[in-house]
Amino acid sequence: MTNSNDEFTLTTSEAAALRLGFSYCPRCRAEMIDKKVYGQVRRVCPDCRFVQFIDPKVGTAVLAEKEGQVLLVKRSMDPARGDWCLPGGFMEIWETPQATARRECREETGLEVEITGLIDVFYYENYRGSGVLIMYKGIITGGQMQAGDDAGAVGLFSAETLPKNIAFDSNVQVLAAWQNGEF
Ligand SMILES: [Zn+2]
Repeated sequence: MTNSNDEFTLTTSEAAALRLGFSYCPRCRAEMIDKKVYGQVRRVCPDCRFVQFIDPKVGTAVLAEKEGQVLLVKRSMDPARGDWCLPGGFMEIWETPQATARRECREETGLEVEITGLIDVFYYENYRGSGVLIMYKGIITGGQMQAGDDAGAVGLFSAETLPKNIAFDSNVQVLAAWQNGEF
């Protein structure tokens, strides 16, 4: 996710269509069928037996603090474009969730974060499908603050200066708790 300008962005309806499953097998090109396997109806290839599992996406976010302030990024992409959220993003394969949180923080804010604990694990659903969000807390240890990747702006906020437009229920919940001094 380093060259976001080179990537294409799906429209809402295109993203929703991905939930319907493949028409053709990505391995052997045969027409996929609906079939009950592993307890529910899934898209299955009758020729090579490829099964399409439509799984939740796993992402991480980090509540990173510096001198009593929390690091937020302004979203430049949907969902919730224009709202503020904690730095974070989806896991890559062969990456630990802690490494994802550190990488996403670096890409979106230019800052290095040390993970100090787990806050909670959230489940959500939206038009792109369902997801699990692992929320860490951490402290900023270095770097130069600069918005990057899919962040349009980045800032450090005190409990008194938090923006009103926070994206995602998980972020709203965690930042409200942080404002009350729970972390
Ligand atoms: Zn196949």
